[in-house]
Amino acid sequence: MASPRTESPLALKRRARKINRILGETYPYAHCELDFRNAWELLVATVLSAQTTDLRVNQTTPGLFSKYPKPEDLAGADPADVEDLIRPTGFFRAKTRSITKLAAAIVHDHGGRVPGTLEEMVQLPGVGRKTAFVVLGNACACDESVTAGQSHGAKVCTPFGVPGITVDTHFMRLARRWRWTGSDDPVKIEAEVAEIFPKSEWTMLSHRVIFHGRRICHARKPACGACPITHLCPSYGEGETDPEKARKLLKYEKGGLPGQRLNPPPGYPGRPALPWAPPPHRTMTPERRGRTPGTNHSNERRGRTPETNPRNERRGRTLETNHSNERRGRAAGTNPGNEPVHRSRCEPRGANDAH
Ligand code: SF4
Repeated sequence: MASPRTESPLALKRRARKINRILGETYPYAHCELDFRNAWELLVATVLSAQTTDLRVNQTTPGLFSKYPKPEDLAGADPADVEDLIRPTGFFRAKTRSITKLAAAIVHDHGGRVPGTLEEMVQLPGVGRKTAFVVLGNACACDESVTAGQSHGAKVCTPFGVPGITVDTHFMRLARRWRWTGSDDPVKIEAEVAEIFPKSEWTMLSHRVIFHGRRICHARKPACGACPITHLCPSYGEGETDPEKARKLLKYEKGGLPGQRLNPPPGYPGRPALPWAPPPHRTMTPERRGRTPGTNHSNERRGRTPETNPRNERRGRTLETNHSNERRGRAAGTNPGNEPVHRSRCEPRGANDAH
């Protein structure tokens, strides 16, 4: 492989296309990892996937869609109820505003159906090119689709079939590691990568690159020693190169773990994800732990009563004294950092100012 600095545009194109070919062989089952039954569900799931994993979205949307299955339902929903339903995805207040506005726009401007062109999609509130390409590249124009191109019984659905490059965080990172681009602007990356690949490849290329970013070429510690494109990657060595150690870093089906989808498509070789369960500390009541409320078994194990703290005794403190205050020459109960500071705009900062 030529040094990235001396690589000609033609050599870059050849190398990039080889990477795409090998990724196609490595992930012949690459697909969109959001669970959805129609374009509306995929649109909402994509909006909810901001700043969280597809897995968490997949674990959250079944509850949302069973209560509010159509845009008309969500447009008239009580925001507090929607917030509760999508809370696990994070930023739930902002996301509630986004999806209810989106539902209202689809009902009022498009008769309750998701529009089928990029121009119309990006006019919807909160929908950018990335979200639009996910929907237009993977969903079907009919209402009951599962995934573009698949059939439901006797009926074959019609995919929107608009090719697009989905520049998410994984795509950005990998395109930079492979020197397909030097930019970190998603629009520029999309344009530069579009120059390298034919249009017909754009949607599947996006899935393959995102699959590789999630399973092998991770942000913090890429598993270089288990990567099938080491000979084509200018960033080989950025991660773990020892094959044994690298294998332990692999995720999802490559590492033998459950995937992101609760309902993966046929042909996915991994295990389905499990539904969301609240963290154990929220469900563990004292009764379930075999305690009666009011007792603290860890204190009992250590032979303490709740009033004593041997760590304080070891340090020669009583609960009333605070040696760190004494060391700083403060009287107990005062904290200069909490006191308001009154100063004119030109006055220099004093030693006691809080920074
Ligand atoms: S060799 Fe390493 S940096 Fe390059 S694609 Fe593979 S895992 Fe990523």
